[in-house]
Amino acid sequence: MDNVVVLTGAGISAESGLRTFRDSDGLWEGYNIADVATPEAWDWNPALVQDFYNLRRKSVLEAKPNAAHYALAKLEKKYKVTIITQNIDDLHERAGSTEVVHLHGIITRSQSSKDPNLTYPIDGWELKMGELCELGSQLRAHVVWFGEAVPMIEKAAEICSKADIFMLIGSSLAVYPAAGLINLVAKDVPKYIVDPKIPAVYGLGPMIKIEEKATVGVPGLVESLLKSN
Ligand code: NAD
Repeated sequence: MDNVVVLTGAGISAESGLRTFRDSDGLWEGYNIADVATPEAWDWNPALVQDFYNLRRKSVLEAKPNAAHYALAKLEKKYKVTIITQNIDDLHERAGSTEVVHLHGIITRSQSSKDPNLTYPIDGWELKMGELCELGSQLRAHVVWFGEAVPMIEKAAEICSKADIFMLIGSSLAVYPAAGLINLVAKDVPKYIVDPKIPAVYGLGPMIKIEEKATVGVPGLVESLLKSN
């Protein structure tokens, strides 16, 4: 069974109603990244950061997977599919994908602000100030902030190095170390990119650019892979 490795970014969830942040104004839902997605922001104003992620969580819980998420789940009929997502939503899982690596965490869980390895499910959308982990420290969203280590990057790197087919869907490739993963895929492996604004990538071997929105480009690509020999 061929190994399909898919790296997804915020663009795959855009048509589920979850906004990307680099497309329009360089802000995330009106916020400057430095004010809500860094350890310094948490030190400065934890209640604001908590509120920001509570609202993101509420939107995620209200959103539904779209045709692109469902198509990737269908690809498992014929291939061993591993999705490495930069997204903090759970739409791949809800669409039925079984192997999903969350590089930047998942917003439906909380984590200790003392030990990032301590994570917990969240009941509902709101994580309150005063809710504590077993070590007695405040619970925060289980997401990787800018400036924090990306614990899953080594596992993701190994997965990419074993790909027989690679796809990049809806990512501007502006956030590192995630953006560097495409360079770890073997040069002769076909690389499909689905994005209405294809990011600049050069010198990486066979590249098939599908300049479409995810809900159009991904189902079409999946159908052609399912039909191929
Ligand atoms: P990005 O915002 O930097 O880039 C989004 C990319 O998606 C762009 O290349 C854009 O052209 C493309 N795009 C827009 N609409 C699309 C569509 N309908 N179909 C396909 N592609 C489309 O996103 P990024 O590279 O993932 O980096 C953003 C970071 O922000 C991630 O690390 C993630 O953690 C976080 N984020 C997550 C979510 C989410 O979980 N849904 C949403 C916003 C931001």
